[in-house]
Amino acid sequence: MSSNQNEFLPFSRPSISEEAINEVVACLRSGWITTGPRVKQFEDDLKAYLAAPHVLALTSATAGLHLVLSALKLQPGDEVITTPMTFAATLNTIVLAGGRPVLVDVEPGTYNMDVTRIEKAVTKRTRAIMPVHFAGLPVDLDPLYDIAKRHGLRVIEDAAHAIGTEYKGRRIGSFGDTQVFSFHPNKNMTTGEGGCIATRDDKLAGDVALLRFHGMDREAWNRFGKKGSQHYEIIAPGYKYNMMDIQAALGLHQLKQLDGFIKRRTELALRYHKIMADWPQWTLTGTPSYGHLHAWHLYTPLINPDVTRMDRDAFMQGMKDRNIGTGLHYRAVHLYPYYRETFGFKRGDFPVAETISDRIVSLPLFPLMTDADQDRVIAAMNDLFKR
Ligand SMILES: *Cc1c(COP(=O)(O)O)cnc(C)c1O
Repeated sequence: MSSNQNEFLPFSRPSISEEAINEVVACLRSGWITTGPRVKQFEDDLKAYLAAPHVLALTSATAGLHLVLSALKLQPGDEVITTPMTFAATLNTIVLAGGRPVLVDVEPGTYNMDVTRIEKAVTKRTRAIMPVHFAGLPVDLDPLYDIAKRHGLRVIEDAAHAIGTEYKGRRIGSFGDTQVFSFHPNKNMTTGEGGCIATRDDKLAGDVALLRFHGMDREAWNRFGKKGSQHYEIIAPGYKYNMMDIQAALGLHQLKQLDGFIKRRTELALRYHKIMADWPQWTLTGTPSYGHLHAWHLYTPLINPDVTRMDRDAFMQGMKDRNIGTGLHYRAVHLYPYYRETFGFKRGDFPVAETISDRIVSLPLFPLMTDADQDRVIAAMNDLFKR
């Protein structure tokens, strides 16, 4: 990246290697551009990286959440417990699959769902818990899985931020029930658009494989009909959520670079932490006491408007005026009109999430960012805050 003052510094930018570009070109030239050998290879590589028995590549993490929740066959009134501090897709897919989102507030330091609040939210209608590993910092999964086990609940981890994250020395995706990862360009690795699910449930993997491609089953015909036939059966009304080989061509090379990307993200995040440690303008994120590897998908401090005399939106505009992009991840989902009107959520329901929602901002963080780029961010903040 350039540290040229005149060039806009985005809050995120993907790192695409020449090898990845060449692989995409080779795929285009090969004559096979949709789901095929490169998707198969990508799924095998992800299985090895995640140490997961089943990985299914999809068009997005949203598709993954939708498929997994659809496979649960939620009945009207069935509840899924999740967090308001997430991207809208987490709740949207619960609703699309016929469920009702039930929310618990988050922890002030990590913005992750406060697992001590989950058990009180469990009812006879609860079917699943959907934790989100915010910014790539893992949720405290041991107590969460204990609750799930006691009440017979599924756990669908929204791991959109968490490829490469570890909890107590184990990689997210290598244990537990089911995880959904995102390969959107802003995420830690990308396939353009894309995502995958990892699961240890053979039945769920089979259902997702079916539902991601029209509910089309060639085996069913082969079981009952002639072997090797071109026929298929439709055994459920499925979706069209299969990843293309063009996308997997990118993903194959992104995955090889992922640990290096996380290493650079971590250096930059810790450098922000060090520089901003004693700034009264910010409240920085905290660190949980359990063992973890943070994938640093986002760097998200909270602005202290009493000190800065400007709110988060004015800060974002001020940075933009200084040629620096920032992001907003996220406003609390329960405050959006659809969720207020449909489920009766209101301000005051989840006060910790609401405070975060009002004050959170994502500072630039991406592997190609240089220390000089980061110095520009710091200089712009010093200027804006008149430090
Ligand atoms: C990005 C994101 C998603 C959706 O991912 P897509 O691949 O864009 O569909 C879901 N949940 C969270 C928490 C996300 O950040």
